[in-house]
Amino acid sequence: MSEPYDLVVIGAGSGGVRAARMAASYGARVAVVEEFRVGGTCVIRGCVPKKLYVYASRFSETFDVAQSFGWQVDAKFDWPTLVANKEKEISRLEQAYIAGLEKPGVEIIHDTAAVTGPNSVRLLDSGREMDARIILIATGAHPSIPSIPGAELAITSNEAFDLPALPHSILIEGGGYVAVEFATIFAGLGVDTTIIYRGECLLRGFDDDIRKGLEAGLQDRGIKLIHQTTIRALSRDGDNISASFSDGVVAPYGAVMFATGRVANVGNLGLETAGVELSPSGAIAVDAYSRTSCPSIYAVGDVTGRVQLTPVAIREGWYFAETVFNNNPLAVDHSQIPTAVFSDPELGVIGLTETEAATHGDIDVYLARFRPMINTLSTKTERTILKLIVGADGGKVLGVHILGPSAAEMIQLVAVAMGMGATKADFDRTMALHPTAAEELVTFKGPSYTYRQGAKV
Ligand code: NDP
Repeated sequence: MSEPYDLVVIGAGSGGVRAARMAASYGARVAVVEEFRVGGTCVIRGCVPKKLYVYASRFSETFDVAQSFGWQVDAKFDWPTLVANKEKEISRLEQAYIAGLEKPGVEIIHDTAAVTGPNSVRLLDSGREMDARIILIATGAHPSIPSIPGAELAITSNEAFDLPALPHSILIEGGGYVAVEFATIFAGLGVDTTIIYRGECLLRGFDDDIRKGLEAGLQDRGIKLIHQTTIRALSRDGDNISASFSDGVVAPYGAVMFATGRVANVGNLGLETAGVELSPSGAIAVDAYSRTSCPSIYAVGDVTGRVQLTPVAIREGWYFAETVFNNNPLAVDHSQIPTAVFSDPELGVIGLTETEAATHGDIDVYLARFRPMINTLSTKTERTILKLIVGADGGKVLGVHILGPSAAEMIQLVAVAMGMGATKADFDRTMALHPTAAEELVTFKGPSYTYRQGAKV
């Protein structure tokens, strides 16, 4: 027998959990169906374990620099301890997510769900049918794997956190967030690390100075970069995996990882039974209020392919609940989203890149490169980069790009100012805090260079 729900959420990740909690707090009868663990990619095999592993990997650099401050460090690393402690922490967070759902009365159902019509969902394991006034799809995304011979020999970020042992070497394919972050994790933990990327410079779409600075920083840490090349095939070679490249080179690695993007989890969801349309990229197409082409079905987070970031999914889930269950229509503004890559060196950015801004109008560019203070006693030559891109007419800050220690923390606060429409004059009026790296952002004098009518002056 079917029971009526106001809302059935499919997927208990960041977006689904926020939507379910908010809707329940507005009095809706809500169930959330999850086939794996509560918390989704971010908590279980994404942002949270990744950041913990980034912390783990950075100790090697810290120990290195510590010597210049007089410390003598004899450190050893134990991978199983990290994996076990990570597991404890994500289990704690999972319980916190479960409690957060249960408090406002959300029913959690561990099963696999498929849509069977505009207002109905079937649970595939139990065979139960559910009636729902509204259905929210929040099933996230999964790693995309190139279709090459031997692809099954490679891991993705899903498996990387729980490897039985660290490999002696790893080849990572891709040039995006996951490739760069995992390369610095593995390299920091002592693994001989190589990135193979089909493009000319990692992190396509980011500001060029930051991209070049990042590549130099990765190479300083011993990470090898292979550009304009792809993996054509993988095969087993004793304990190693033999990788054949598009340029004819064949080389053995202890492990191979694909970090070649993520695709929406829409398979076997029964979306066609309700006429839910997909975008050309295969994600669920939605309007500004996260509504699909079926009026009773909404979708939030990575499954919509808008911006694959946890805080965006959370905001989409929250605004969905406001719109549908609190009579307060809110559309998420996807235009100014701060983002960070937790590599080493770290980068944090918001707004337009120099190349993008130069096509929008005349701009002034303020650029600083300097050795971070923590490195000044050592022989390290790496530079922090801070770039401020300002509209020549009115001085509005259009983009801020930072590469170096704590870039992510800095950019989160810059985002507040930019969200308020800050101008260069607002930055100038701000008292500097010394000695910090961020003070450079409020002490720039004349522009480093400008663009007039699209041409660099
Ligand atoms: P990205 O889209 O960032 O990068 C994918 C990379 O793989 C690109 O460099 C792309 O090349 C390359 N690529 C794609 N297909 C192929 C192929 N068939 N063969 C070879 N190379 C290929 O995806 P990620 O997997 O790194 O991350 C997924 C998303 O998760 C990110 O977009 C981000 O939104 C989110 N994320 C955010 C993090 C954060 O906030 N710190 C951390 C991790 C993930 P090309 O550049 O030429 O397209």
